[in-house]
Amino acid sequence: MTVPLRRVVIVGNGIAGLTAADSLRSSGFDGELAIVGAEARPAYSRPALSKALLRDDADLAAHELPPAEHGATELLGRAAVALDVDRRRVALDDGSALEYDGLVIASGSRARRLGTGADELVLRTLDDALALRERIAATPDVVVVGGGPLGMEVASGALAAGCRVTLVTIDEPMAPHLGAHLAALILASAVARGLRVVRTSAAGIVERDGRSAVVLADGTVVEGDAVVSAVGDIPNTEWLAGSGITPGARGALEVDSRGRLRPGIVAAGDVAAVPGSTGHARSPIWHSAIEQARTAGAALLLGDAAPEPRAQPYFWTEQFGLTIRVIGRTPLSGSPELVDGGDPGASALLRWRHEDGSATAVAVNYRIPIPRLRRLCEAAPAASLG
Ligand SMILES: Cc1cc2nc3c(=O)[nH]c(=O)nc-3n(C[C@H](O)[C@H](O)[C@H](O)COP(=O)(O)OP(=O)(O)OC[C@H]3O[C@@H](n4cnc5c(N)ncnc54)[C@H](O)[C@@H]3O)c2cc1C
Repeated sequence: MTVPLRRVVIVGNGIAGLTAADSLRSSGFDGELAIVGAEARPAYSRPALSKALLRDDADLAAHELPPAEHGATELLGRAAVALDVDRRRVALDDGSALEYDGLVIASGSRARRLGTGADELVLRTLDDALALRERIAATPDVVVVGGGPLGMEVASGALAAGCRVTLVTIDEPMAPHLGAHLAALILASAVARGLRVVRTSAAGIVERDGRSAVVLADGTVVEGDAVVSAVGDIPNTEWLAGSGITPGARGALEVDSRGRLRPGIVAAGDVAAVPGSTGHARSPIWHSAIEQARTAGAALLLGDAAPEPRAQPYFWTEQFGLTIRVIGRTPLSGSPELVDGGDPGASALLRWRHEDGSATAVAVNYRIPIPRLRRLCEAAPAASLG
């Protein structure tokens, strides 16, 4: 039996929760909407935390988003602690409960830590960013563990703030994310700006006299005034324990192509894994969270009539003087075609063509609106920039 949708509860006030609320409204939902957010502040831009906000000359409002227009009751600083699927009820940490006809799970993820000490810094929330900014301003030697986009952006921000920065990494920095060509470009720029890179097959964090230090696979200890872990994230699903909703193999909630999990329940953003050619996978990036939440919000109301999310993900990163924007699948192997721009190191529009006929378009310090970048890879065989 389909329950008419009069009350919707959204758990999580990040970009996925916010977008799902907007999507419900624009799809015609005019009933009661409640958003529960564990952080005691309105939704903000997480990508800004590792970019503008870390710089010395930071625009301290760079993370702010336009005021919400969804007209929901916002319960901020409150967390969902349990879900009763049969009674359609979400229990909150203040002892209250919210009943729903439709539920959006948008509880995102949290930073993974390597150690247990309080001195180990991570970057997931605005509070983390403000604490990290303060430490960077006061400490000359920073050690960052993790050569992915987050670790590299933190390392870049710390270098720009005048720190000496050591990056401890298992893989070639950025290579698992973007492939060898772009990783080499980034590494060259990073090293030229003074980044020291230490490779290891494993890294751990130990606490000595209240200070964190990094231990490499061969036992070498790398010390700094500040140690930052950027080693991935963990989906926030613990509050669902006992509900009958269990995460899949990689810890995320496996949804269908429109974000549906159970009748009347959808999930979107970093907490969700979406179906793809190799099974369910997370796409923990900003625009994927938006796309998924737009679809999931609409699907709660419209079911199969809701449009599916775009297949080609959009990702960007800013590090070591390079702004790299990517539409299409990654990592990228082989050499790209130079579509425009004379100097691939400085400013270039690149394209990788894949065997299945699809393509990935990449702008390196190259100004191009996202729809035009998208067109470049969607119409790969005969693309034009016009
Ligand atoms: C520092 C940083 C930089 C990034 N930079 C980029 C970038 O350059 N490009 C890019 O594409 N992506 C980037 N990302 C990734 C992108 O920000 C995320 O994919 C996106 O924010 C995910 O949104 P979300 O709403 O799913 O989850 P989140 O942003 O994690 O929001 C979930 C919210 O739910 C709350 N919550 C959790 N559990 C509960 C509960 N039980 N009850 C109530 N509330 C709960 C959390 O407190 C959180 O506020 C970056 C991420 C970080 C951390």
